Amino acid sequence: MTTARILDFIRTRRPDGPCLVVDLDVVRDNFQSFRKALPDSAIFYAVKANPAPEILRLLANLGSNFDCASVAEIEMALNAGATANCVSYGNTIKKERDIARAHALGVSMFAVDSHEEVEKIARAAPGARVFCRVLTDGEGAEWPLSRKFGCVPQMAVDVLVYAHQLGLVSHGVSFHVGSQMTKLDAWDSALADAKRVFDKLAQQGIFLKMVNMGGGFPTRYLKDIPTAQAYGQSIFASLRKHFGNQLPETIIEPGRGMVGNAGAIKAEVVLVSRKSDEDDVRWVYLDIGKFGGLAETMDEAIRYSIVTARDGDATEPCVLAGPTCDSADVLYEKTPYPMPVSLTIGDEVLIEGTGAYTTTYSAVAFNGFEPLRSYVI
Ligand SMILES: *Cc1c(COP(=O)(O)O)cnc(C)c1O
Repeated sequence: MTTARILDFIRTRRPDGPCLVVDLDVVRDNFQSFRKALPDSAIFYAVKANPAPEILRLLANLGSNFDCASVAEIEMALNAGATANCVSYGNTIKKERDIARAHALGVSMFAVDSHEEVEKIARAAPGARVFCRVLTDGEGAEWPLSRKFGCVPQMAVDVLVYAHQLGLVSHGVSFHVGSQMTKLDAWDSALADAKRVFDKLAQQGIFLKMVNMGGGFPTRYLKDIPTAQAYGQSIFASLRKHFGNQLPETIIEPGRGMVGNAGAIKAEVVLVSRKSDEDDVRWVYLDIGKFGGLAETMDEAIRYSIVTARDGDATEPCVLAGPTCDSADVLYEKTPYPMPVSLTIGDEVLIEGTGAYTTTYSAVAFNGFEPLRSYVI
């Protein structure tokens, strides 16, 4: 599933050390697939999945919009050619001065999930459009986003009424079903919640326009996943079921589904060893680990496909670990990973489907929040 262009690049350029190689052709295909699967929904690429300037430029050229979580991400999108009206400030947790900066850059759509955040936006971005995020249970997601974002639907009603009272435009409702969502019907109950919020507000003379259906579209790792088309059909059926003939404007915010399968990481086996002579599980140490970009192996949540030149040889389960001196830097141990018995030190491995959430998690300012600065005095 890794493309010939990526394999060629690694073979001919021989980059030293672990690296991610992303094929823009795949990103383009993914964008077109989303567009075809949900032709009436605007696509807001979730920048945090992979903010490489080449990716943002390609998507801006294709007509994508951008979901940004920080002023730094907004600036990245604008630098890639997006206009401010194509940018949503989708983080529900923002400093008031960052809201003001975004407003000054021309951004006019903001996420909220509390009265407190509405007050900040009313002060720092008067007249802006806001959408309120509702909680989802995240069930069926392999990387759930849990309870950190969103409020219960009844509170969303109050928050949007409050926004209206403070002179903001109460624009809609958002949710995120959880990342790497493999259940096709996961959007259904969230859309039912969204519709209830629409109805409650309409009773008060406030007419919402938009439902932001978030991300969650998966990447194929070890198991097959449904197509974008299948997600589109299921989501559209739910929209019809709950909104009937009065379909709202809709947005999707794919991150993983846009770039995950577009990249592969080249890594190297640094050591293969055992902890005792009787040990039947070998330890394979790579030159990349949790702190070098594979953070989503936390709790062994995301299980990548790992390809070696020795595939086809007999395999045995191995503990797979990263190179750092932190004992948390183990990728797969609870469920050991089958690797060729013949695998040896110096072998190259390809970790597939790693285009999303790898470079960002390796501490180059995740989500645009800069890495910890230090002053040594
Ligand atoms: C991270 C994030 C996304 C992207 O989620 P994926 O599961 O990668 O598609 C979309 N919207 C918001 C608000 C996010 O925080």
